[in-house]
Amino acid sequence: MRILLLFFVFLSPATYAQKLSKSDRAIVADLKTHVGYLADDKLEGRRAGSPGEKQAIGYISAQFQSIGLSPKGTAGFGQPFEINEGKQIQSGSVFIVNGHELKAGTDYFPLSYSPNSSVIEAVVSPSLAEGGQPWFKDLGDILINNKDNPHFDVSAQMRTEIKNATDKGAKAIVFFNTSNLPDGIRFDARDGSEKASIPVFYLSSAARTKFLPDPATAYDVKLKSDIGVKQRTASNVVGYIDNGAATTIIFGAHFDHLGYGEDGNSMIRDGSRNIHNGADDNASGTAALIELAKLMKKSKSKQNNYLFIAFSGEELGLFGSKYFVDHPTIELKAVNFMVNMDMVGRLSDSSKTVTVGGFGTSPSWASIVTTNKKTGFHVKYDSSGTGPSDHTSFYRKDIPVLFFFTGLHSDYHKPSDDADKINYTGELLIIKYISTVVDNSKSAGKLAFTKTREQQTGTSARFTVSMGIMPDYTFSGAGVRVDGVSEGRAAQKAGLKAGDIVTQLGEHKVTSLESYMQTLSKFKKGDSTKVTVKRGQEELSFDIVF
Ligand SMILES: [Zn+2]
Repeated sequence: MRILLLFFVFLSPATYAQKLSKSDRAIVADLKTHVGYLADDKLEGRRAGSPGEKQAIGYISAQFQSIGLSPKGTAGFGQPFEINEGKQIQSGSVFIVNGHELKAGTDYFPLSYSPNSSVIEAVVSPSLAEGGQPWFKDLGDILINNKDNPHFDVSAQMRTEIKNATDKGAKAIVFFNTSNLPDGIRFDARDGSEKASIPVFYLSSAARTKFLPDPATAYDVKLKSDIGVKQRTASNVVGYIDNGAATTIIFGAHFDHLGYGEDGNSMIRDGSRNIHNGADDNASGTAALIELAKLMKKSKSKQNNYLFIAFSGEELGLFGSKYFVDHPTIELKAVNFMVNMDMVGRLSDSSKTVTVGGFGTSPSWASIVTTNKKTGFHVKYDSSGTGPSDHTSFYRKDIPVLFFFTGLHSDYHKPSDDADKINYTGELLIIKYISTVVDNSKSAGKLAFTKTREQQTGTSARFTVSMGIMPDYTFSGAGVRVDGVSEGRAAQKAGLKAGDIVTQLGEHKVTSLESYMQTLSKFKKGDSTKVTVKRGQEELSFDIVF
């Protein structure tokens, strides 16, 4: 589960828990075993691409194997995929002044759009700008001159300076800032903008004062820019029950979690390093997936095939489920519907409420999801096919979805989301409810799909304005790719569509999600501007009012 907002539509009448049979007690015991293993400290929070994730993959694969599922990944049960972590400054980067080596990342850094170079050596003074040498450019005066201009874009100004320097034969350019005004320049790992024609560096004020104190003095300078792309490999786990049917039901749950919070998605942001066990998020859903696979293997309902996917990379932005729908190992057209379980382990004994999302994604859900059997809990329906978890990826491929969720709690995305807080009996009730829903669907044939409203999943509260788009967090090109557009919001009114890549807002270039958010902060409610997008090969411009 990634984000916090949910809207509820309808409340069903109360029903009551039943006494547990022997087979139910066995399920509860197995759920405990699965969650106990996955949420153990040994797995170090199952961060996508980490050794703990590999252990989880091994466990889930072994469970699928012993249940008798067929491997349906690309490497046995596994379906590996790369996670692009963005750019990083590599050890080849060099900034040496009179023999003193400056520290990359603190004293200086090459800008993320700097091209890689061999060592450039020269004797130059910071006040000098002439052809054939590395140039030094002070941003101080520019910042002071523009301090009252809310639309001033220092990054755009730097691009102009780089072009000017290149035209005059500069070998490299080093920016620094002698003013007290903040310039906000940092290494943007997600920057996808066009590479500069010459290496570009930023020198910190502290390093400039220490190593190049006198603008008029000539210093012996050695520069080299070395930037690479960081990647790590994660893997989904995919198992299959082939009933020879024309349609397939997909059950999914993500098994990855936050690790030590390295990706910045923990609720604890005090710099501490603690294992986030993710018992509810989402060892609970993974355990439910394994137990559902057992039930479906024994089920007499053969009208559908069943595919079970444990997703990785969910916590980073639905990476695993997106990878699956773009690289499906079964025919997506034959998918009847998708059932997602994310955080199903905290059924509250007082409110006894389970949220069922995706209720609006098929007209058939109303008759299928409602069951006469005693569920043991209340059901809150949420119509939206999108939300903070993997069903969103399937909804975007026009597949009806259901999303099961027992609600947020104070341990959400904290190291305290532990196995001893899971309501295993509650989870059993949810599994049984899902198997009843599958049973109810067996005579319905292939379900019709309907579009629903988009659920806002952004952190727009941080900004005074937002466009009402759902950005694609996995997109690594230049700009911000739109995954979805909220009904009635600025972007939709302007004419933006899913799939558009936002490249410019007003005079500000949008090169990454980071720069998009920085740009948005320059606008107020009621402001209007132009938004430029790439739609296929076309570049389009729209008027937008915030
Ligand atoms: Zn989560």
